[in-house]
Amino acid sequence: MKIYVTDALVIDLDSEQWECRACSAVLGSARENYKRFMVLRPHDPSEIHAPIIDPERYEFTFAPDPQWLSIVEYYCPQCGHMAEAEYLPPGHPPVHDIEFDIDALKAQWAAREALTAPVLGPDFVTPAHHHHKGGH
Ligand SMILES: [Zn+2]
Repeated sequence: MKIYVTDALVIDLDSEQWECRACSAVLGSARENYKRFMVLRPHDPSEIHAPIIDPERYEFTFAPDPQWLSIVEYYCPQCGHMAEAEYLPPGHPPVHDIEFDIDALKAQWAAREALTAPVLGPDFVTPAHHHHKGGH
């Protein structure tokens, strides 16, 4: 069964692998940080937050200081879909921002039907816990 994790990422619970939601490429073990399996593209922050005042004339220009900040984008190695972008101190390893207990996730989804599209918000009630009778 595949579960939707983010706009760009899916976990196949049977194989315990991260997959790209855009192209279905198998990325790597869902028990590890998905960013390990992606293409990283670090940016000088001024590429994204342009200087407001002339960098030829001023040391500080309202653009973030590249000695203190790197903006890193993560792409699917197969299709190039961007999965995440984060602000890091230069040299900092990728943040492990999504870490599931895969065994617990399997147990949670064991009695559920697979979804065919992502669902969000209070109207999503899982079949196993369907106590919602409508009304608010
Ligand atoms: Zn992809």
